[in-house]
Amino acid sequence: MNTSLKNKTIQIDGSIGEGGGQILRTALSLSMLTGISFELINIRAGRKKPGLMRQHLVCVQASQRISNAIVEGAELHSTRLYFQPQQVQSGQYDFQIGSAGSTILVLQTLLPALMMQDHASQISIHGGTHNPMAPTADFIQQCFLPAIQQLGIQVDFSCERAGFFPIGAGQINAMIHPWLEKSKCTLLQRGKISSIHAYAIALNIPQDIAERELQVLTRKLELTECKKLYLQGISQGNSAFVVLKYENHQQVFSALGEKRKTAESVAKELANEVKSYISSDAVADEYLADQLLLPLALGKGGEFTAQVISEHTRTQAEMIQKFLDCNITFEPIGHIFKVSVEI
Ligand code: AMP
Repeated sequence: MNTSLKNKTIQIDGSIGEGGGQILRTALSLSMLTGISFELINIRAGRKKPGLMRQHLVCVQASQRISNAIVEGAELHSTRLYFQPQQVQSGQYDFQIGSAGSTILVLQTLLPALMMQDHASQISIHGGTHNPMAPTADFIQQCFLPAIQQLGIQVDFSCERAGFFPIGAGQINAMIHPWLEKSKCTLLQRGKISSIHAYAIALNIPQDIAERELQVLTRKLELTECKKLYLQGISQGNSAFVVLKYENHQQVFSALGEKRKTAESVAKELANEVKSYISSDAVADEYLADQLLLPLALGKGGEFTAQVISEHTRTQAEMIQKFLDCNITFEPIGHIFKVSVEI
């Protein structure tokens, strides 16, 4: 913890850098972990509909519940929030987003504080599981969680029901174990590739959507396996994803079907993302890069290579360094970057 800040309130301007919901979520996570209060103004000023949307409000309410926090401004569309955490309590929790807002982003907000407790927590979150502009349940299960498991973080995760916009009604369950043995991260080389698997889901919509996506992915990528998946759920939606297994890392790319976008173009864009990753030498893609910073900063630090350093990643680094004594740097190496987190 940044000891000079104890008993102080950190002032955060939500319009800095990327200006999205991640500033709020990271502030909540770090505040619960360090016990430092914060006041956030200009919440999501960089977005078309600024302020707290339902999903962000659930992040605030869920954080309040697990940390017994004193909160001001926790209302829909609010652009100011004051958050003063008390004691974080592990336990069994159930959170309802009440819309198709991302369950995964709520989980990622609570995870850092809960994994630092002495006892495990069991949490269920109801809402969206396959959302645009957020990690999908598949990305979390097959990419983010295996990556942080290498640092010693243990989470048993399941996607009980899929939830797509606008109905949502999905459910994820996570058992978060205490982080007992912290390992330093050294993910500079991904190693040799061993398999490329492609999957597609068409939930309560014609199955040929998933089949056509898999045909395109088969044509464009050298797949080792290609499979349609069947999930439970009452919403309608489509997602395709590709899992690349390397000696030292597993990377996932996912895409969501959209109205007025053909299955072929969804799959073509996904294949192009995968190809550009394969032709780079990096371990983490753009999204995993911003998501790995906090676990590294809370553990023993370390380094990894990243395909791209997004504005999201830079903003995340800035936020982490506001609360914690650590130094995060990005060093270009040819076309990729070396990310270092020094504790
Ligand atoms: P924000 O836009 O500030 O609400 O933050 C969105 C979060 O979702 C960031 O941590 C991104 O890395 C993550 N994210 C967005 N799109 C994807 C994707 N396609 N796969 C994985 N993670 C994603």
